[in-house]
Amino acid sequence: MIFLDNASTTKCLESSAEIIKNELINDFFNPSAKYNQALTQTRKLETAREEILKVLGGLGSYSVAFTGSATEANNLVLSSSINKHKANLIGTGEHSSVIEKSKFYLNKGIKVVYVPLNDVGEIDKDKFKELMTSEVGFVSIMLVSNETGAINDVQWITKFAKSVNPKVLVHVDAVQGFCKIKINLKSLDVDYLTISSHKIEGPKGVGALVYKKQAKLEPEILGGGQENGKRSGTENVPSILGFVNSIKELSNDIDKNFESVKAFKLKLVEDLAKFSANVGLDFVVNGDPENSSPYILSIGFVGTKGEVLLHSLEREGILVGTGSACNSKHSGNRTLEAMGKTKAEVESNIRLSFSRDTVTEDPTEIAKTIVSLAQRHNNTTKR
Ligand code: PLP
Repeated sequence: MIFLDNASTTKCLESSAEIIKNELINDFFNPSAKYNQALTQTRKLETAREEILKVLGGLGSYSVAFTGSATEANNLVLSSSINKHKANLIGTGEHSSVIEKSKFYLNKGIKVVYVPLNDVGEIDKDKFKELMTSEVGFVSIMLVSNETGAINDVQWITKFAKSVNPKVLVHVDAVQGFCKIKINLKSLDVDYLTISSHKIEGPKGVGALVYKKQAKLEPEILGGGQENGKRSGTENVPSILGFVNSIKELSNDIDKNFESVKAFKLKLVEDLAKFSANVGLDFVVNGDPENSSPYILSIGFVGTKGEVLLHSLEREGILVGTGSACNSKHSGNRTLEAMGKTKAEVESNIRLSFSRDTVTEDPTEIAKTIVSLAQRHNNTTKR
């Protein structure tokens, strides 16, 4: 099997799985209990927070609240922030957890404005400048698009937003960028940042919201007051420790992995374009393959339905996605439509997403298989 759907989830590192197993069986104590073993668990949690902040350059001024997913972390920050201001700005291409939560408030009469994307899927800076008025108190923009890999200039966004309204709170969903591109909280200067474990070779069921210590954060889940009162519920210590183990492993080699995955992606794009041209297929890349995350590639062959191609590739042992897995129940594709893609282009979309291990595969063989199946199922070249 060749797994090219790493933006939806990744295989858990064996060393992280070992840590989880040991914690579940041997160090299973509830950190809120009063005996010594519980205190040890609390200390492990505090060290886990420190490790995350170290990797993000946020030690001292930021805190970490662990959640059950990035979806929950996004819901937490929006429910705490969005109904407190005259207006809010949200990226059009945000993950469904941000879009659906913001729509919930929009339907209650809260002013939410969606910032358009440019033709490569990034936040349109000119439009952002127009929309960012002194009324806007909350901004939520993703670092890396889960659909196209487009990278937003978050540092510019925060700087511009704060120059217009110094009190504005900025949230960045960094799920697809964390441990894949270097992130420095001090230079991004965002108030909130979301990360997810299972996207970076950690276990499923853990996410985190990193927040500036002085930024307001009202809990959504109430109960025993865990996570400094920001998220009640017994902490998932085993998986949190597994998550941190994966972070440590991946954050060591961010730049090296970036370069090798980029070389793989560019070779794949080159071969896909070459083989498509040879057989007269209309090959489309959604976004700018050179200036985006190397881990995500959104493509299509006009006249070949993305979903048909996906299942055809599955039969050959190659697993890919059609857009975001969290979006797969909705037809269309908000991000591609916002980029100005035609209906035929959107319908042809498949998403290939890579891990640092994907580079051991042969991009030319993969491109050959994809193009040959795209041709077989194409309804423009058959006639
Ligand atoms: N944000 C982005 C950009 C994502 O790609 C995803 C998952 O696809 C999420 C949030 C949600 O992550 P989780 O599965 O941890 O809820």
